[in-house]
Amino acid sequence: MLDTRLSDEQLHLKKTVEEFAREVVAPVSYQHDRDKTFPYEVVRGMADMGLFGLPFPEEYGGMGGDYFVLCLAIEELGRVDQSVAITLEAGCSLGAMPIHWFGTTKTTARLEDGQWVINGSKAFITNSGTDITRLVTVTAVTGQLPDGKKEISSILVPVPTPGFTAEPAYDKVGWHASDTHPLSFDDVRVPEENQLGERGRGYANFLRILDEGRIAIAALATGAAQGCVDESVRYAREREAFGRPIGANQAIAFKIARMEARAMAARAAYYDAAAKMLAGLPFKKEAAVAKLVAGEAAMDNARDATQIHGGYGFMNEYLVSRHYRDSKILEVGEGTTEVQLMLIARELGL
Ligand SMILES: Cc1cc2nc3c(=O)[nH]c(=O)nc-3n(C[C@H](O)[C@H](O)[C@H](O)COP(=O)(O)OP(=O)(O)OC[C@H]3O[C@@H](n4cnc5c(N)ncnc54)[C@H](O)[C@@H]3O)c2cc1C
Repeated sequence: MLDTRLSDEQLHLKKTVEEFAREVVAPVSYQHDRDKTFPYEVVRGMADMGLFGLPFPEEYGGMGGDYFVLCLAIEELGRVDQSVAITLEAGCSLGAMPIHWFGTTKTTARLEDGQWVINGSKAFITNSGTDITRLVTVTAVTGQLPDGKKEISSILVPVPTPGFTAEPAYDKVGWHASDTHPLSFDDVRVPEENQLGERGRGYANFLRILDEGRIAIAALATGAAQGCVDESVRYAREREAFGRPIGANQAIAFKIARMEARAMAARAAYYDAAAKMLAGLPFKKEAAVAKLVAGEAAMDNARDATQIHGGYGFMNEYLVSRHYRDSKILEVGEGTTEVQLMLIARELGL
């Protein structure tokens, strides 16, 4: 689709990923979802296209793009397969740009003879247990600050390293073809140089990565919301009931019109947040708004799209049923809806 906000280069990238999603990802999505298998062949294709290097400078082997083009790619993948889209998002956002693990449990690291010794565990870590996972980065408590607060730092851990274990994968409601594990660290030793960035800056870096990540998840959710529109328009034109296409009924047409409005609002919100971020302006509120609006758009559209598909919407072969299961996490991951509301309220001075 033509978007006047995008440059020719951005439009080209968007179209290339859209074709890849349609021709390479979509044909194997159902099978990987059903079998709960990681789509190595698809990920290899994405790597060959340079998608995992999209936002990184060319001198480091990247494509020299920026965070916004990464979001465009994530949105296109999210239209047809959220598992594949989150694999890219986690690889580039949470992954290669310091990987930060959500600290549901306490993880500590202490310096001993020039090595960090890490102990603890982490929950819900994406891309952490595949055959091609080569490193993970832990955000761990590394000491105490003079004011008594915890000192938190980020440390790279190559995979495999003795003492590091990716525990058996979670049995999830959706995102079946995405890799998610609990991790445990038992006296994991890595060289002191594996510390990422300044010691004690781990928490500040983590918050910055989360703000950025919200924009990328909003892009994914926008893709999911749009994918639900795509499928619903197609189905409403094809499916005849009581002698005419179901889309000829205003009740169905209005439902789809509202879905399109939600998808467009979600896109506008994440484009705005990304523009502010790339311009070096404060973007915390905009990122939270984008994540909130897009996550809800995905879930609402998935519910409506499933309804429009009638009984077929309850069948796993149908993309809308997958969006229905997959979209729930978009209201939870990278900060829940409630957390986004808290952030927005705080930015408003409340
Ligand atoms: C499939 C999957 C993949 C994930 N991948 C990653 C990953 O790669 N990296 C990563 O860092 N994290 C990852 N996560 C973690 C995810 O970001 C968290 O699950 C999410 O942020 C919610 O945190 P929580 O599970 O601890 O929920 P909790 O914080 O326990 O929240 C539970 C409920 O309480 C509400 N709540 C909590 N506090 C408040 C409050 N103060 N006021 C009002 N309501 C409140 C929440 O909104 C929510 O409804 C992943 C999770 C899943 C399920």
